[in-house]
Amino acid sequence: MEIPESSNFIQDIIVNDLQTGKRDHVLTRFPPEPNGYIHIGHAKSICLNFGTAKKFGGFTNLRFDDTNPTKEDVEYVDSIREDVKWLGFEWKEEFFASDYYDQIYAFAEKMIEMGKAYVEDLTRDEMQEYRGNDAGKPSRPSPYRDRSVEENMKLFHEMRDGKYADGEKCLRAKVDLASPNMNMRDPVIYRIKHCTHHRTGDKWCIYPMYDFAHPISDWIEGITHSICTLEFEAHRPLYDWFLIELGLQNRPQQIEFARLNLTYTMMSKRKLLELVQTKAVLGWNDPRMPTVCGFRRRGFTPSSIREFCSRIGVSKADSMVDVNLLYFCIREELNQTANRVMAVIDPVKLVIDNWEAGKVEMIEVENNPNDPNAGTRKVPFSGELYIEADDFMEEPPKKYFRLKPEGEVRLKGAYFVTCKSVEKDDDGKVKVIHCVYDPLSKGGESPDGRKVKGTIHWVSAAHAVDAEVRLIDNLFTLEDPAQVPEGEDWHDYLNPNSMVIKQAKVEPALADAKLEDRFQFMRQGYFCLDSEDSKPGHLVFNRTVGLKDSFNP
Ligand code: ATP
Ligand code: MG
Ligand code: MG
Repeated sequence: MEIPESSNFIQDIIVNDLQTGKRDHVLTRFPPEPNGYIHIGHAKSICLNFGTAKKFGGFTNLRFDDTNPTKEDVEYVDSIREDVKWLGFEWKEEFFASDYYDQIYAFAEKMIEMGKAYVEDLTRDEMQEYRGNDAGKPSRPSPYRDRSVEENMKLFHEMRDGKYADGEKCLRAKVDLASPNMNMRDPVIYRIKHCTHHRTGDKWCIYPMYDFAHPISDWIEGITHSICTLEFEAHRPLYDWFLIELGLQNRPQQIEFARLNLTYTMMSKRKLLELVQTKAVLGWNDPRMPTVCGFRRRGFTPSSIREFCSRIGVSKADSMVDVNLLYFCIREELNQTANRVMAVIDPVKLVIDNWEAGKVEMIEVENNPNDPNAGTRKVPFSGELYIEADDFMEEPPKKYFRLKPEGEVRLKGAYFVTCKSVEKDDDGKVKVIHCVYDPLSKGGESPDGRKVKGTIHWVSAAHAVDAEVRLIDNLFTLEDPAQVPEGEDWHDYLNPNSMVIKQAKVEPALADAKLEDRFQFMRQGYFCLDSEDSKPGHLVFNRTVGLKDSFNP
């Protein structure tokens, strides 16, 4: 295979490795911790890991990083599989880090044998104190640092056999207490935790720490490039140290990139879980959530998310990405692919007084002007319609081109109508707008060539179908809710209008809408059925994104 050209700093490394013969293939992994649903930040990591490997003819493993036994759940494992598949990726093999516990344990024993690990009796707080800090406070060796290999081995076995309580002892690597990198100052590699693991049950009461388990897991699988986020940069020396000390060949290389942050939302699984648990949202897949399943329910397509991830690229500097770029990506796609339909979200009655009583006309309309293959459909038109309440103004400002008393508008694809009078309810709210139509303007043009500036959409009252419409907006009102001002609480920045519910009247064809369908509700935005709450006879649509573009990429 000819080596493709690099397009970012990660690919630079890979190209170099392939050219110099350091590697003859590429194997990456996506290693989620199954403690929550994956979000758009994980999607970036997925696109990067799978996309990069694929570009170089390689593969990607899915590895559930389940070394933290108390927080994990099978529900999350299932959802992660589903979401990765939905994004359009296939993994080569599936593993759990817990599959490697025996091997990781054996490597810990080997560290002890080599005099590179010792059993620690200090408490967490004491250890912290002995360790010093990176502001200049030097470290002191633990009084237990020079235990003999035999003693360490005996104690480690006792730890494994359940002789000690949580926190009573731990196993530390003997690295470098003088290192300016705190991660190198004898990190803990095994801790005691008496709990039931979701896969290994009660087999273990000691568990490896991430810094020890991760390089070993990567090596066992033969990962060539271990791509992770920037906060692990300072852990890389330790990652390498373990593999070198253990004498392992063909060592995987850790490469860091900047995590994705997106405006008006947050990526912390812990806080997202809280929103779910406190019912601030409908669930992990609430269409306002930044989760992959939330975006799916909201109507995003896998291709739009992949496009977004490709546009943002990878960098070595943390930054905030404008959520409007994501909206731009889905809007661009749906503008090409979504059929146009008419839906009146905030309906008011319009009666055509000179329409023949009971007459129904079928109006032929184009499904998608951007797709010549999309065809046309027939929409029933009659003398009683619904239009949007804000397409009529009794006392309009200048340059208001929609419907007003004695004003004329075009009803999309149908006729010109002129408003003659209104009926109001007791509160003075307009209830019915009375119009006359021009029978010669059929199809939306008049033979005398007179100009009508405004075109509004409509549905026939007798044929319209009721639908609940959910207007989705950003979950937070603050650009970066992870950074609330001092003394404030992020909860106060939840957007109270993030989901506005309306009772709409929609054209009858929408009664047969399917879950995979995407629609442009003319003049309103892009919509899809809600996968949880929409039922035959009770349609629920989510607005994926509005029509207006506030982003210039
Ligand atoms: P969180 O802080 O949300 O719990 P995490 O990093 O602990 O995130 P993991 O499940 O461990 O979540 O992440 C799996 C992979 O996805 C890791 O390689 C991680 O670096 C990557 N990842 C997580 N969040 C982001 C993000 N915001 N941008 C890019 N990659 C991310
Ligand atoms: Mg985490
Ligand atoms: Mg993690």
